[in-house]
Amino acid sequence: MQFYMPTKIYSENNCVKNHGKELAALGTKALIVTGKHSSRANGSLYDVTDALDNNHIPYCIFDEIEENPSVELAVRAADFGKQEQADFVIGIGGGSPLDASKAIALLIKNPEYDGSVFYQKIPLDAVPVAAVPTTAGTGSEATPYAILTRHDKQTKQSIAHKIFPKLALADSRYLISAPVFVRANTAVDALSHLLESYLNNNASDYSRMLCDYALRLFSSVKDALLEESRGNASSDPEFFEHLMTVSTIAGMAISHTGTSLPHGMSYFITYHHGVPHGKAVGTFLEKYLENCPDHDSVSHLLKIMGFSSIRELKEFLRQVLGEVSLTENEVRTYTDGMMANKAKLANCPYDVDYEMMYRMFYDSVKISG
Ligand code: NAP
Ligand code: ZN
Repeated sequence: MQFYMPTKIYSENNCVKNHGKELAALGTKALIVTGKHSSRANGSLYDVTDALDNNHIPYCIFDEIEENPSVELAVRAADFGKQEQADFVIGIGGGSPLDASKAIALLIKNPEYDGSVFYQKIPLDAVPVAAVPTTAGTGSEATPYAILTRHDKQTKQSIAHKIFPKLALADSRYLISAPVFVRANTAVDALSHLLESYLNNNASDYSRMLCDYALRLFSSVKDALLEESRGNASSDPEFFEHLMTVSTIAGMAISHTGTSLPHGMSYFITYHHGVPHGKAVGTFLEKYLENCPDHDSVSHLLKIMGFSSIRELKEFLRQVLGEVSLTENEVRTYTDGMMANKAKLANCPYDVDYEMMYRMFYDSVKISG
């Protein structure tokens, strides 16, 4: 058994301020990578710039990262960082800016390559990355993955390089300003990471221990998530802290195992239908558990999450996420695509043939047209 998780993580209120010296010590000029609005609204961007100013480290800001960032966008941000002579990258935001930061850090370190290097298996380093998450879903602050949109393949795919952030600063107060649907989708993303990591051919006692702990913690936030979906937004600091902890631990778990079918299946409906990542993966969770022949493990997982049955989990997911509609033709096309996704199939602990995959798509969505 082995376990590797080299990111130094601080998870506490005010951690950017408290550990600003360590953040600033990562290099001599920072490229801050963030989205268009939210990091200003929740204060995370100003916490980071204050920390850099206080430690006399100059910075430049690329604030154009979109949801599901593309290869082309990461290349453009890296060009800006190189021009500015930045020698470390600070990602602030949800999984999109954090993932983009890792890809950008790779190109800054290796200016002789273009974006095609993302999907080439060449051993390359990146300049240091720090991650400041403002959603509690992807756990990207604790994973080596960077998922980019590939327009050439009309899907999303993790780059071939493993880039762990050197430093993660997780302050759950940044979650407070997130819209309820963002909190719901991202919480379900973290839940999917835990379930796909536990039911995974790469799972070990170490990774299952993380899943066990975080799923028990998830059971303490699920009622509040349901309440939020009924219009009663939470203001309980403990709720936000738990969401962040679940997400970061889930990131550690998938760093070890990778994800499996729900993530592979989700990429089609995110790319072609714009369904947010967490909602897209959550759509397929029920069937991932239902098809699993290891009933003891599935019962254990349901129990520690606080669900009495897969049906109850399904109702929870429908309530907090809503539904996704596909046509029969789309189901067929995406089934073909998934049957070609050897990496995600290899992580699944049971055999999946064409018919099962087709049914997993078909039975998880509303069929339209
Ligand atoms: P996201 O795409 O980063 O952000 C979604 C939306 O939420 C954006 O509009 C963003 O606004 C907003 N937002 C973020 N934080 C907010 C806050 N605190 N308050 C208000 N609004 C906020 O969402 P995500 O679900 O966290 O990340 C999804 C991406 O991560 C996908 O590309 C997915 O494939 C990837 N992912 C990566 C891993 C990994 O291991 N690396 C794992 C799973 C998923 P702004 O644009 O204004 O910031
Ligand atoms: Zn995910």
